[in-house]
Amino acid sequence: MKYELIILGSGESGVGAALLAQLHGISVFVSDGGKIKDQYKKELTDAGIAFEEGQHSLDIILNAKEVIKSPGIAPKTDIIKKIKEANISIISEIEFGYRYKGNSKIVAITGSNGKTTTTNLTYYIFKNAGYHVSMCGNVGYSFARQIFLAPTDWYIIEVSSFQLDDIKTFKPNVAVLLNITPDHLDRYNYNFSEYVASKFRIAMNQDNNDFFVVCADDQSIKNKINELESNPKILKFTMNDKFEDEAAYIQEERMIIDVNGELTSMPVAELSLKGKHNLYNGMASGISSRIAEIRKSSIRDALSTFKSLEHRLETIATIKGVEYINDSKATNMNSVWYALESMKKPTVLILGGVDKGNDYSEIADLVKEKVKGIICMGKDNSPIHAAFDGFGIPVVDVLSAHDAVQVSYKMATNGDAVLLSPACASFDLFANYEDRGTQFKNAVLEL
Ligand code: ADP
Repeated sequence: MKYELIILGSGESGVGAALLAQLHGISVFVSDGGKIKDQYKKELTDAGIAFEEGQHSLDIILNAKEVIKSPGIAPKTDIIKKIKEANISIISEIEFGYRYKGNSKIVAITGSNGKTTTTNLTYYIFKNAGYHVSMCGNVGYSFARQIFLAPTDWYIIEVSSFQLDDIKTFKPNVAVLLNITPDHLDRYNYNFSEYVASKFRIAMNQDNNDFFVVCADDQSIKNKINELESNPKILKFTMNDKFEDEAAYIQEERMIIDVNGELTSMPVAELSLKGKHNLYNGMASGISSRIAEIRKSSIRDALSTFKSLEHRLETIATIKGVEYINDSKATNMNSVWYALESMKKPTVLILGGVDKGNDYSEIADLVKEKVKGIICMGKDNSPIHAAFDGFGIPVVDVLSAHDAVQVSYKMATNGDAVLLSPACASFDLFANYEDRGTQFKNAVLEL
């Protein structure tokens, strides 16, 4: 059997792309080297889309015109090598979706940290302003499925570097690049500049009708932006006062957005999301919203009423004067740095899990200033001990969220905070970061 289009990987993006392809009359075959989740299998079966699992049939795959590769499949796997050798075009699911977006407009958001928060926040502003908008990509439905199910005038898309690696023509009206810190380097030959280049692909097809919203305080972005070969309008945001032509900046404790010839100004204290990192997220969302000509008052209202997302500096409860905060999504040093930076109270910090090569000295100063005890929740806690044993604070090992909460309950006193911001992946003790956060929350609520 010959198919025009092969989809490798049958998760949310693969199934979304398959449904969209079928809708447009393209003969499509889905091939997953592992096991396909029941829910997705059912969808494919119900739609009459052919698929296989646990194998990749080369006779079918190497006869196709085009392949959509799921972001989870590394480019160095055997099957991808063979497809490349056969000169078959490989694209990502957002590239495929882009072909069917019609006249709708796109805000695409990437960065090492803050993508989900900024995507949600931007969506919230657009939605509250009455725009016909959806949020998709790495959050919620895949872009392709969103187009298949319910096309909207605006798409706010969370985009990962893996998705960007296989775009060809994807051209967002507004591209947002929040920050770039080392992450996923295993996929980029352990070469940071390859990872930076991947993030910048978000703007590679933009022209001077498009906007590229970038953080002016990020050294890697600053270095690379001068090499940009496309020519979008570049709008910068900074934590500092206006220096040259920044589109958003902080002046006397106010956040100012300067887009479309008008200033939107609001006190930093009125933003509902706390912490410096969220100021960045707020500025990026605010600029994007002004580009879309959303009213200033509408933006201010939304920025002051947006509720923090689960597992991201989420306050669970205050018990005997101690505030318990779940930041389970913090799986690298950079996000823990911002979490600690935002803490106003003496803090018991819960760290640990699967360490991706963390340099704990990055948070040493903040630990000295704010942390009264560290709880290591992981199977191998030696790097954390090596970093903090000499700090004169207790550093205690536990093997479950329940025990972490019990120990923190004893360590913390009235007026303190307990912060789960682990700096590590979770799979030594938990299914994923959501499971870790949920177990932590449940243990807190049991107190
Ligand atoms: P992503 O989708 O990029 O992983 P999230 O919005 O889910 O980002 O946030 C992941 C973690 O990073 C959370 O711990 C959050 O508090 C922290 N964070 C959010 N925004 C930023 C930012 N702009 N810079 C650094 N850390 C951030």
